[in-house]
Amino acid sequence: MEAATPTAEQQLNEIKTNLAVIRQKIADACVKAGREPSSVRLLPVTKTVPAERLRIAYAAGCHEMGENKVQEAREKSEVLSDLDIKWSVIGHLQTNKVKYITRFANEFQALDSLKVAAELDKRLQSAGRGMDVYVQVNSSGEASKFGLPPEDVEDFIRQLPNYSSLQIKGLMTLAIFSTDHDRVRTCFVRMRELQERLRQIAPAGLSFDELSMGMSGDFELAIEEGATVVRVGQAIFGKRPLPDSHYWPGFG
Ligand SMILES: *Cc1c(COP(=O)(O)O)cnc(C)c1O
Repeated sequence: MEAATPTAEQQLNEIKTNLAVIRQKIADACVKAGREPSSVRLLPVTKTVPAERLRIAYAAGCHEMGENKVQEAREKSEVLSDLDIKWSVIGHLQTNKVKYITRFANEFQALDSLKVAAELDKRLQSAGRGMDVYVQVNSSGEASKFGLPPEDVEDFIRQLPNYSSLQIKGLMTLAIFSTDHDRVRTCFVRMRELQERLRQIAPAGLSFDELSMGMSGDFELAIEEGATVVRVGQAIFGKRPLPDSHYWPGFG
């Protein structure tokens, strides 16, 4: 016999339970690191989760949603436009897709080129709005990962005051995918050190208080090393149907 599809009420309860478990783990990791639990923001990552399920997630308390593909994010934001969702784009963006995100996104966490910065600023200026932006850093050195090499970030951020609609908030990274905690932690430590350096040299108006790092498998480690935003998908919504190599070309 096939398992029955869970009812909306069962899905609601499941998501609420998962959120409560994650919030408790965040709080525990904060205590362990001597930090305030309120210093960490949980960004639910909703890629591949269908819009109807996101209505249930919204009812369960997810009012922010992170998506890594512009097309998917845009479609969902339209279908769910009756809900007050803050959309965060957390995936690499091609310059020709920038125009779409200014219509629905509150935040862009994956800035890694001046071409995208220039285009995004141009679009935001003409829309008369700003956007919170994080610079993506490749902290693992893997060729498959997007983001600037850590040593290039200093020069990069010196150019950003030219784009005044971008409200620079901090850095974002994906750590190495590994079961070896030491290797994962090394990525997070590299980010914390980079953050400290940038804080000293940052041009006026740019802030590096935010560190977006840590996902379902490694958010507790990330919090120990200073994460202020954790991006969690599968631990809330369940395993994605396809392996990560499908969503991150080059991985796996
Ligand atoms: C999918 C994704 C996540 C969340 O990964 P999970 O394993 O589902 O927690 C975080 N950050 C980015 C950039 C992603 O694409």
